[in-house]
Amino acid sequence: MYDNNNIFAKILRKEIPCDKVYEDEFSLFFNDINPQAKIHVLGIPKIKCENFSDFVSKTDDKIINEFFKSLNLVINKLNIKEKGYRLVSNTGDDGGQEVPHFHIHILAGEKIVGIK
Ligand code: 5GP
Repeated sequence: MYDNNNIFAKILRKEIPCDKVYEDEFSLFFNDINPQAKIHVLGIPKIKCENFSDFVSKTDDKIINEFFKSLNLVINKLNIKEKGYRLVSNTGDDGGQEVPHFHIHILAGEKIVGIK
């Protein structure tokens, strides 16, 4: 069951601040508080979903589409398309997920080796 008190839910409710990179009606992108690369941005949809499978199976197609379009927009905005980047979505215990709200890590700005 979705935990309404997870840290990203609190960020979405503006109970705690974030260093915002991009926001629209469906999604929020912000810098990771503990960056694992020169560029480390987190993207989250503005709905209650725990992980990738939850997001894809329980969410309106429009919201899924908007989220991934926004992700691509942020990739363009960060100017990392040419040199490359890594997208990661950790899920569950084995995946090493710490925050139980679906999120995508965008890692870039240097060669990404063996992290996240
Ligand atoms: P996970 O391991 O769940 O895939 O990643 C969670 C990420 O959230 C970690 O990279 C961690 O540094 C980041 N994080 C945890 N708490 C906060 C916070 O309060 N603010 C921000 N901006 N990032 C956070």
